[in-house]
Amino acid sequence: MNKEYQTLSADTDPMGAAIAEYQKKKKAGKLRVLSEMFDEDEIPVDYLFRTYKEMPAIEQKALDLAKGDTLDVGAGSGCHSLALQQLKGDQIGELTAIDISALSCEAMKAQGLKDVRCVNLMDPSFDQKFDTILLLMNGTGIAGKLERLPMLLNRLRQLLKEGGQVLIDSSDLCYLYEDEDGDLDMEMLEGDYYGEVVYQMRYKNVKGEDFDWLYTDFKTLQTFALNCGFECEKVMDGEHYEFLARLTVKA
Ligand code: SAH
Repeated sequence: MNKEYQTLSADTDPMGAAIAEYQKKKKAGKLRVLSEMFDEDEIPVDYLFRTYKEMPAIEQKALDLAKGDTLDVGAGSGCHSLALQQLKGDQIGELTAIDISALSCEAMKAQGLKDVRCVNLMDPSFDQKFDTILLLMNGTGIAGKLERLPMLLNRLRQLLKEGGQVLIDSSDLCYLYEDEDGDLDMEMLEGDYYGEVVYQMRYKNVKGEDFDWLYTDFKTLQTFALNCGFECEKVMDGEHYEFLARLTVKA
């Protein structure tokens, strides 16, 4: 199978294992996140099951703006789709959730989401069109590297109905390069784009492969989006360098 369209099998899917366990037992162990750029970190697994009320404001805003046939990309535990189904049923049409994690997809189905598909966003055999496409919890991450951002954006444009919108969030990692006075360390402007991170996750004895994950500042996302035929507006800023953007196809 072409690497571009890969899905994850259980033995290389720590996040899926954590989601599956939490969904069944309402508790889970530590989902560890490792990267050479940061100290070891942890994603609280219950956070992946957050309700609308527990979501950050930019995610709530994205759900408020969703309308028509809606696709939740990289849906994880399905928290955004479930909130849409429960609270915004009238506002949206058909709801589809996709993820490359078979374990996460099973957990989504078990919670009552009807149209769940274990498929890679980039897989051309997935060819429906939507009024709203959601990519939340650093949606630009799926591009992996900045040079691959146009591929992601062009793919999203293909999946949009006329008049449709993409709601995507990211964070400007510039704060990692600030010294005590708040001045930016110029090192961040050298070499690769500073929002490119390589992560590995671990859950119990399940070890994932390294994967590229891209964070973008708003200006960078906007510049790439314009080049791919989108208008790109910032809907709102979050509390800590994150933002929600709305992309629509240029008339
Ligand atoms: N949106 C969820 C999960 C975010 S984590 C939330 O906010 O809680 C990112 C998710 O994207 C993971 O579940 C991962 O398996 C999925 N993913 C990564 N690359 C993908 C791709 N190319 N196509 C579909 N899903 C992808």
